[in-house]
Amino acid sequence: MPTYTPPLRDMQFLLHEVFQVSKDYQQMPAYAEFDADTVNAVLEEAGKFAANVTFPLNITGDEEGCTLDKATHEVTTPKGFKDAYKQFIDGGWPALSCDPQYGGQGLPFVMNSMLYEMLNSANQAWTMYPGLSHGAYEALHAYGTDEQKKRYLPKLTSGEWTGTMCLTEPHCGTDLGMLRSKAEPQADGTYKITGNKIFISAGEHDFTENIVHLVLARLPDAPAGSKGISLFIVPKYLVQDDGSLGERNPIFCGALEHKMGIHGNATAQINIDGAIGTMVGEPNKGLQAMFVMMNAARLGVGNQSLGLTEVAYQNALSYAKDRLQMRSLSGTKAKDKPADPIIVHPDVRRMLLTAKAYAEGGRALITYSAALVDRELHHPDEKVRKDSADLVALLTPIVKAFVTDNGMSATIMSQQVYGGHGYIKESGMEQFVRDARINMIYEGTNGIQALDLLGRKVLGNQGATLKKFGKLIAQLVEEEGVNEKMAEFINPIAMLGDQMTKFTTEIGFKAMQNPDEAGAASVDYLRVAGHLVFGYFFARMAQVALREIANGNTDPFYQGKLQTARFYFAKLFPETASLMRTARAGSKSLMDTDAALA
Ligand SMILES: Cc1cc2nc3c(=O)[nH]c(=O)nc-3n(C[C@H](O)[C@H](O)[C@H](O)COP(=O)(O)OP(=O)(O)OC[C@H]3O[C@@H](n4cnc5c(N)ncnc54)[C@H](O)[C@@H]3O)c2cc1C
Repeated sequence: MPTYTPPLRDMQFLLHEVFQVSKDYQQMPAYAEFDADTVNAVLEEAGKFAANVTFPLNITGDEEGCTLDKATHEVTTPKGFKDAYKQFIDGGWPALSCDPQYGGQGLPFVMNSMLYEMLNSANQAWTMYPGLSHGAYEALHAYGTDEQKKRYLPKLTSGEWTGTMCLTEPHCGTDLGMLRSKAEPQADGTYKITGNKIFISAGEHDFTENIVHLVLARLPDAPAGSKGISLFIVPKYLVQDDGSLGERNPIFCGALEHKMGIHGNATAQINIDGAIGTMVGEPNKGLQAMFVMMNAARLGVGNQSLGLTEVAYQNALSYAKDRLQMRSLSGTKAKDKPADPIIVHPDVRRMLLTAKAYAEGGRALITYSAALVDRELHHPDEKVRKDSADLVALLTPIVKAFVTDNGMSATIMSQQVYGGHGYIKESGMEQFVRDARINMIYEGTNGIQALDLLGRKVLGNQGATLKKFGKLIAQLVEEEGVNEKMAEFINPIAMLGDQMTKFTTEIGFKAMQNPDEAGAASVDYLRVAGHLVFGYFFARMAQVALREIANGNTDPFYQGKLQTARFYFAKLFPETASLMRTARAGSKSLMDTDAALA
């Protein structure tokens, strides 16, 4: 049976020592009261909720799954899920980082991000129900009318209602421009929505009395393609002017998908049969509003894989200390035992340290990105808000794709540490692998994230935002460039930063001649960018650890941070050389292959 211990010390290290967020947050009027004690107390309680309430339901939820009553269209979630959700709302967790105007607690998003990491470690399938609601809350907060906000935000904030995102249709997932759901304007200003959506996460369940579906559909006169898509709120039960629930809206779950993992989450086919909705934002500009939810969800999906990486690593580490097999190549280590624990073997350490480095790098990146979201929304200086927004946009596809690709490797390596026992259900490791797999697929596949990064976020503005990230590296080089102890961390990122500039220009030129060149290089490019970003954070973590050690701090935690950073730069970061080489190999060996793919 797997176990889970919330990584509170690691979180505190990032917040208080590496990023020193309190200083930054005190400049933002919304968070002037934010202090380390509050942060630590909230994280501790969040960790208890994850470890004690939802983690025990992870395996049972996976085994039981969700069931649909075809006659009533109602879905029953696995035993204990509904009660855990009640405890979640009773504890006020959905409201953590929501706007006080709608009943929220007004804490920074960075706290919500850490809450969700722990929930995802504990039970990704369960966590997706409230996770999507928060995305719906953000989209409505940004684009809803005052009337819509008044009607829906208090209930989404309290968690009394949940939200969904209804984009995908049977014939269109990536290419939303092809979507066919229709919205007919009604005399009273509402719209009648008709269409079929598939793969809708948390699309139906028994947690709450109402579900707020955010649905993409086309107006009758809409232009073709993605410029003709509008966004609508389509609640399961219509909401009356006094806030009470009215008639059942004809938006029904027609079937549940049978899938590889996240069995406890209801992935619903949703049939919309003339349901009443109201428009969010402007006609034909629905994607713009939906992107608020999609961007939140992309950061959220990276956080799902971070959670799984952490829990898989924790279990693999403890197994590797107990399991006895063979003797160490360099001589017996456990003389009193019939064999050495497998943690003595270099290859087992490689797998453990890879998972650990992916967890620590991912947590640093996600924490930094979440803090940028807070700055983007609340910093008093307009330039800081703008720079933060640009950096979040740049980092979002990296969080989504790099952290989830790493999460897949990390959960597989952690499973591998168990040998055959990892393949057997009882260990719990195969569930982590199955659950992690979806994170590379939904919310825009990782291939699409790579195109977004290279095409839109980098080449789209001639590398201007990438240069903003480059400035952070330059600043660190300036601070630490003369510190010999930092050379092993600083030199590789400074060098890769320079190489990236040339590499990006080269791809940009090639792509101007032949657009397939961008598509052929993008996945490798995103991984190189991911390492540049991880490298920067590992250098910053090493900087703090070195400083503490130099000041005589003997807490082994800091040695651990330093050793993980050294492993990362020695064994994982050098992958960038081969990635740049394969990216430079261009598109020809992919595209001139009709005979091979005949
Ligand atoms: C369990 C689960 C939960 C989901 N939850 C939701 C949800 O809550 N709401 C929702 O709306 N959707 C949801 N989805 C849908 C999900 O977001 C889509 O499956 C995903 O975006 C991919 O779309 P698709 O499946 O249609 O694949 P396709 O778009 O058909 O893509 C197939 C392959 O082609 C590649 N491809 C497509 N176009 C390009 C291109 N231009 N360049 C390079 N490669 C390309 C893709 O990367 C992919 O590998 C969910 C899916 C699953 C499986």
